[in-house]
Amino acid sequence: DQIFEQAKAAGAQPVSFEMFPPKGEMTLERAREVAGSFSQLNPDFISVTYSAGGSGNNGATTKIAQMIDADFGIPSVAHLTCISLKRADLLAKIDEMRAAGIQNVLALRGDVPQGAPTGPGCADYRYAKDIIPHLVDASFCVGAAAYPEGHIECDDLELSVRQLKEKQDAGASFLVTQLFFDNQYFYRFRELAERAGITVPITAGIMPFMGKQQISRMVFMCGASLPSPVIKLLARYEDDADSLRAAGIEYACRQLEDLAANGVDGLHIYTMNRADVAGAAMSALRA
Ligand code: FAD
Repeated sequence: DQIFEQAKAAGAQPVSFEMFPPKGEMTLERAREVAGSFSQLNPDFISVTYSAGGSGNNGATTKIAQMIDADFGIPSVAHLTCISLKRADLLAKIDEMRAAGIQNVLALRGDVPQGAPTGPGCADYRYAKDIIPHLVDASFCVGAAAYPEGHIECDDLELSVRQLKEKQDAGASFLVTQLFFDNQYFYRFRELAERAGITVPITAGIMPFMGKQQISRMVFMCGASLPSPVIKLLARYEDDADSLRAAGIEYACRQLEDLAANGVDGLHIYTMNRADVAGAAMSALRA
């Protein structure tokens, strides 16, 4: 697909950033500041998260992705979750994104809201793979999520990889991984994916740790392992927030360099909307 081909043609691994629609009333203005600072670093794409849970996120993801494409000239990837979508909502979303000129979509299930009814018939789209063909038919370049340590609801990594292959079979043409703090998990997963016949580019997603609370929330949400070097850093800088953040960014940069040296297809940085995170990652990779 194009976003990967362009970077490869330039002889580099694609480097991309994730941002989320800022909260509050000034969403678009704040998003413009974030996207503007990121675009100066010239990433290969910027992806914009989608808030699951039925609000339809008021079109914020679409508007921000459109801004990234049109005003900053950087390819965008608009996330879309299907957990609360009815068929009519999906069609409306597709129309909205097409009208905005969006070309790339990351198809996701989203996290099941607490207390939501589950089981057959409760949702029009149960898994991310269920919306992929509709998006492909609407001419989007479609990506999907991958889990180097397996998805938190699935105990069997090999099964998780087979389910990932179903996303490729449904039409996904690139994959972006969940965060991980030990590259060995990624390398093992990459081998399994290759053996399972996954041939589309797999971009490795990295998030720097910024604090004990932030990292606990993340690992409890996604089930990623915290290796002892990370735990030691969290303990060492427990009472020194600035040093902890610096250590988190430094650790992420070393992870990114190692991944780049090991020939990953792409590097995706969970920036948390922070220009310092995006800047440090880009300097480590493009130095
Ligand atoms: P799916 O691929 O549908 O998988 C969900 C579960 O179903 C897994 O446990 C899987 O093992 C199981 N499963 C899949 N296929 C089958 C099958 N055929 N039979 C039985 N079980 C099956 N969330 C947001 O709300 N907004 C975002 O913008 C967002 N962006 C993300 C970006 C990335 C790169 C990643 C990795 C995650 C993102 N998430 C986001 C979180 C994501 O929504 C959750 O991880 C969610 O729990 C699963 O999404 P999925 O698309 O991988 O789901």
